[in-house]
This record gives sequence, structure tokens and C-alpha cells, in this order.
Amino acid sequence: MDFQLDDDQREFKALLRSFVDKEIVPVAREWEQAGRYPTEIVDGMKAMGLFGITVPEEYGGLDLDPVSFALVFEEIARGWMGVAGILGSHSLACRLIAMHGTEEQKQAYLPELATGVRRSGIGLTEPDAGTDLQGIRTTARLDGDEYVVNGAKMWITNARYANPLPVLVKTDPTATPAHRGMSVLLIEAGTPGYEVTKDIPKLGYKGTESCEISLTDVRVPVSQLVGGVEGRGMQQVLSALEWGRVNIAARSVGIAQRAHEEALAYAQQRKAFGQPIADFQAIQLKLGELGTQVQAARLMAYWAADAVRRGRADGATGMAKIFCSEVALQAAIDAMKVHGGYGYSTEFEVERLYRDSILMSIGEGTNDILRTVVAKSLIKGETRVG
Ligand SMILES: Cc1cc2nc3c(=O)[nH]c(=O)nc-3n(C[C@H](O)[C@H](O)[C@H](O)COP(=O)(O)OP(=O)(O)OC[C@H]3O[C@@H](n4cnc5c(N)ncnc54)[C@H](O)[C@@H]3O)c2cc1C
Repeated sequence: MDFQLDDDQREFKALLRSFVDKEIVPVAREWEQAGRYPTEIVDGMKAMGLFGITVPEEYGGLDLDPVSFALVFEEIARGWMGVAGILGSHSLACRLIAMHGTEEQKQAYLPELATGVRRSGIGLTEPDAGTDLQGIRTTARLDGDEYVVNGAKMWITNARYANPLPVLVKTDPTATPAHRGMSVLLIEAGTPGYEVTKDIPKLGYKGTESCEISLTDVRVPVSQLVGGVEGRGMQQVLSALEWGRVNIAARSVGIAQRAHEEALAYAQQRKAFGQPIADFQAIQLKLGELGTQVQAARLMAYWAADAVRRGRADGATGMAKIFCSEVALQAAIDAMKVHGGYGYSTEFEVERLYRDSILMSIGEGTNDILRTVVAKSLIKGETRVG
């Protein structure tokens, strides 16, 4: 057994860490609180090729293995989780196009998505359907060689920069089961009737926008149907979401790691009753537990990422996403407690970790839903424990 990263992965992780320490850590708190878009950080990520992490090399991408993919999200989230969001759904969109797109679609979009000249996101959720994706109401009716799309999308991260945006639609709203009538269309920004109507105000996950989109008689050429065949949309989306769960597990590890670092440093510097609070056993219990949980979460995220490398891994990625996101939240709360009153101040990093960590148990499938996904995988014998 090998629980170590290989040499390339270690080197890559060190490179990411130094980028984050130099470009993200010093500005994260101020920019996040000011609601400033991190343009300079995006430029840095472009220069490192990070917009191409899930794009095959033949289209100009880095085509990272899933463990290295996880390292990107772990390290960036350690600096500022919201910035990881800029790469998150972009990378899923690239993967979706790379895995399921026609050759024409890959040629048209992947090279520019890989460099960040084009950016993307993923449009699934609607005002009345999130977990229940088969309940979406957005329709795409064929009219000659165009689809006419009507509906609305909700919570779409990167919506203001996405071009194209893969959008889940019903090409046959009468199909049963519903997923047989669902497809993904690549809708280009600027298409008449496609409008980003609102940035949704959020508790955390700042630095990237999450928006409402309205779709009114949007005419989309049939050549934009992912894979060129109707009825495969759910399956295409679900296969991309598997990487999405690794992404969230890894972001959670990054948040938890930062919480651990902040708590450890503060405990050694803050004095009470004439000694560093790190000398008190009650604080040591928190530090010991925090370090243990972070390291366990990290191993679980890498294990799930490696399972994806070997094939479809709903159970492993679900387990990792549940566990790591819950560790992130607890780590943030414990780090705030170690900081006493200052943990509650917006002048310290830990309150942002707390606000950002909560999203980790919601995005890419709520943890409760994923518990049922894991259970089904265990019952079918596709995932084994032990
Ligand atoms: C900041 C942010 C960014 C996001 N970015 C994107 C994005 O880029 N693209 C995108 O498409 N979506 C995005 N989402 C949407 C996200 O994926 C959904 O919020 C999530 O899937 C849950 O859907 P919902 O909010 O409609 O909740 P619901 O589906 O209404 O769920 C509400 C509650 O009911 C529970 N529940 C639902 N069904 C069941 C069931 N069968 N059994 C037991 N419990 C159940 C859920 O676990 C949850 O606790 C984002 C959300 C947020 C908050």
C-alpha cells in the first residue's frame, strides 16, 4: 500500500501552495469582505494552466489525474474557497464536453476553455428543482435545425463568465422515466433570450457569483446538443458530478487544513493566565482532534480520487464528500472556539472558513442525499467497506 503522493504530485502540490501563499492568502480576507472579484488571481490561475486541468492534452489541457485534480482544489480552498469555485464548475463543464461532446464541440470549445480565454459553469438547478433534477421544467423544443429553450436556472456559479454554459433541459418533457427525455445544450453567452438576471446574495462562497438565469425563446442550433443524441443528459451530468464530489471533498480538506493552521498558530501565540493557551489541556484536546480529523479527511479525499481513476466510484466519492465536508465545518467551529472572542471577528480568517464550510455539505448533492447514494451502492455491492 502507498499512502504517499508520487513525486510529480508532491511537486505540483508545492507549486500550488506557493502560488496560494503568495497570491491568495494575503488578499483573501479583504477582497472577500469587499465583494471584489479576484481578477488578478484568475489571471494567475490561467497562467498556471489551471483552467485546463480536466481538458485532454490534445486540446491543450493538463488532463490531470483525479488525485492531482483534488490537490488543486485542496490548496486553493486553503487560501480562499470562493476562488476554488471559479475553477470548480468550469472544470466539470470541460470534463463533460471532453467525455461526451462531439468532435466538433471539442474542437470548438476545449482549446479556449483550457487557457481560460473561455470560461464555463454548469446549469442544472432550477427554482423548483435541485436534488430532484428529473423534476426540472426547462424545455427545449426542436424547430427546424434549432432548439427553442424556455425555463429558468438558479444558483448557477460562474454564470456571468460562462460561454458556453452547459444547460440541462428536457428535449422530451413527456418521457418516462423523465431522464430519458433530458439532454444538455451548450448555450453561448449573448444568445437572445438568455439572460443572467440576478446575483444571489450568499452567506459565504464570495469571490464567485451564483446567479439566476432566465431562458425565453432562446434559439440554440442542434449542433450544440452535447454528444449529438437526445436523452443522454442525465447520464452525462452524473458522470461529471463524480469529479464534482472529489472537488468538494478536496475543497473541504483545504478549509479544514487552514482551520487547523490558524488554530495551531493562535493557540501558541495567545496567552491567558500567564501562559500560551496551547498549554491548557482543553485547548490541546481541540488541536489534537482537529489535526486527526483533517488528516483522516485528506486520506479519504485522495482515496476517493484514486477510486475515480480506476473507474466509476459513486460510493467512494459520496463517502468522501460527506465525511470531508462535515470535518470542514467542525474544524472551522473548533478553530473559532480556540480563537475565543476573536474567532467571531471579521478581522480574523476563521469566520470566513466557517461561512464557506457550510456550503460543502450542500453543493454537488446534499450530504443526506449522498448518504442514500452510498447506501444504494453498498446494497448493490458496487462499494465495499472492509
Ligand atoms: C452557493 C451555491 C452554488 C451553487 N452552484 C450551482 C451551480 O453552479 N450549478 C447548479 O446547477 N447548481 C448549483 N447550486 C445548487 C445546488 O446544487 C442545490 O442547492 C442542491 O443540489 C440542493 O438543491 P435545492 O437547493 O433545490 O434543495 P432541495 O432539493 O429542495 O432540498 C431541500 C432539502 O430536502 C432534502 N431532500 C430533497 N430530496 C430528498 C430526498 N429524496 N430524501 C431526503 N431528503 C431530501 C435535501 O437533502 C435538503 O436538505 C448551488 C447552490 C449554492 C447554495
